[in-house]
Amino acid sequence: MTVVGIDDTDSRELGMCTTYVAAEIAERLRQDDWGTVSRLLLVRLNPAVEYKTRGNAALAIHTDCDLDRAYALARERLESLAETTDERTNPGLVVAAHDPNTDTAPDDVVRFARAAIRDHLSIADAEAMIDRHGYRSWYAGDGRGRIGALAAIGAWDALAEWTYEYISYREPDRWGTTREVDHESVFAAADWGYPAVWDTVDRGEDETVCVPHTPGPILHGVRGDDAAAVRTVADRIESEPVAASQLFVTNQGTDVHLQDGSLSTVDDGRAYRLEGQVASEPETRRGGHVFVDLEPPAAGDGAADGAPERLTCAAFEPTKRFRDRVRALRVGDRLTACGEVSDGTLKLEKFAVRDLVRTERVTPTCPDCGRTMKSAGRNQGYRCRDCGTATAEKPTRELERELEDGWYEVPPCARRHIAKPLVRGGFDAPTHPER
Ligand code: ATP
Repeated sequence: MTVVGIDDTDSRELGMCTTYVAAEIAERLRQDDWGTVSRLLLVRLNPAVEYKTRGNAALAIHTDCDLDRAYALARERLESLAETTDERTNPGLVVAAHDPNTDTAPDDVVRFARAAIRDHLSIADAEAMIDRHGYRSWYAGDGRGRIGALAAIGAWDALAEWTYEYISYREPDRWGTTREVDHESVFAAADWGYPAVWDTVDRGEDETVCVPHTPGPILHGVRGDDAAAVRTVADRIESEPVAASQLFVTNQGTDVHLQDGSLSTVDDGRAYRLEGQVASEPETRRGGHVFVDLEPPAAGDGAADGAPERLTCAAFEPTKRFRDRVRALRVGDRLTACGEVSDGTLKLEKFAVRDLVRTERVTPTCPDCGRTMKSAGRNQGYRCRDCGTATAEKPTRELERELEDGWYEVPPCARRHIAKPLVRGGFDAPTHPER
């Protein structure tokens, strides 16, 4: 058995897509009877990596083709398809002789794959490991693509949770033109497949999320928990001709990029799951972005080390109706917040309400005249200047809250590839899924 890892073939302006290159390699292997292909992995790596073109994807092909042949074919396809005229496209190929169905990848390669999803790695890290294991490799440009290619080799053993994407490709002479996809048929197919098939559309925004807007070869990509169901949903979509299609096994929709952290120890360029307490009123700033500060949970509640640091969390304009959830937060609410930290700000992907503030203290009103009482001085309670009535403390009032306990998420139109939709289940509290 042979595992072929590839990465970094596309350009934001010129198009292409590494899934397409992988599908082409798989197709050639089958066509020329060089081997069977047991699966194609579409692995989403750390979404915070600055070198990514779009979704930081790396691909692996599991085949019983002979290693030399698989290497030669993959290299030929990469050389011919990768958009290397864009100097930011740095394709990489790594080929390993191992059987993912019976053997596990070496421990350090498995660790490398995990680190590629949550952390930052160097080209030298990849080179040293490729040499150490005697893997065949090829690259162009600075060879950065070998990081993703090597991670794709270790991913099958590094990860336990997998989902599916069924990608349909356009005829090459249509690339770059407007996609002809029947809007209604996408919504009907999405209804048919939900909830096993998710993020196909965004009902709130009336958007066909499975149809990209970029100039590349993808017509649509249908994601879900069930291989047969994603394929059926794709088949039910009416569109221009589909030139080819391929099922990918993927870590999309799994939240595997998130690591548990604490507010005081987060680093830029990584994604976290953090416990905190709302420390500022949510504020909508220019552009419609919503910001709210979190501080460690109140001392004595166990989760915090008492550090007074605050972390600003953001729901940017593209997260649409999710911003209303963030605006509904109040100082003192207890949360678990998830997202990537960038420039010291956590870009919210989802949050769980753990404990809502249910009452607020209000300035007392005079029981005789009904007017608002005034402060009688520091720690001296309140007094009605007209009637002379006094009270020692501010009374509490029940608050009406729009939020409930449990998880809230960005809508499908704003979902990161790797982020887990709430509809997939397995969360530790009630969920409020968007669809
Ligand atoms: P493509 O379809 O071309 O794969 P993309 O959006 O997936 O597009 P790439 O063009 O692959 O992005 O760019 C990501 C680059 O960053 C690749 O060269 C990859 O090897 C590298 N990379 C991925 N993960 C990491 C990481 N954790 N640390 C450092 N570099 C990484």
